[in-house]
Amino acid sequence: MPRDDSQNQTNSRLSSQLHLLQEAAIGHLDNLDCPNCRHLAISVWFSHPVADMYRTWFICADCDFHTRAQNTERPRFFSDDRVCAELEERDLSIVRQAIFKRPPQRLM
Ligand SMILES: [Zn+2]
Repeated sequence: MPRDDSQNQTNSRLSSQLHLLQEAAIGHLDNLDCPNCRHLAISVWFSHPVADMYRTWFICADCDFHTRAQNTERPRFFSDDRVCAELEERDLSIVRQAIFKRPPQRLM
């Protein structure tokens, strides 16, 4: 039944994200199993756009798979070496939009 199929897909996507989170939690930050292309090509990155906000990113080098999780506290294996400036910029703009619900400021 179609409904069951989609339920299964949702479950398997959630369980693969959970698996990635568990790997990151024990310090496995490279060569993780990609649920999309099945290559051992996922690396873990972090972003820390503002105080008290951390995000863990899982990005595949071999396909366009990426997922992220929001952390309420500093991830155990967080390090500046693993902070991706590009992701942090993106997070920061999302956070700013959420905090300041006013029109964008004119440039110049
Ligand atoms: Zn992949």
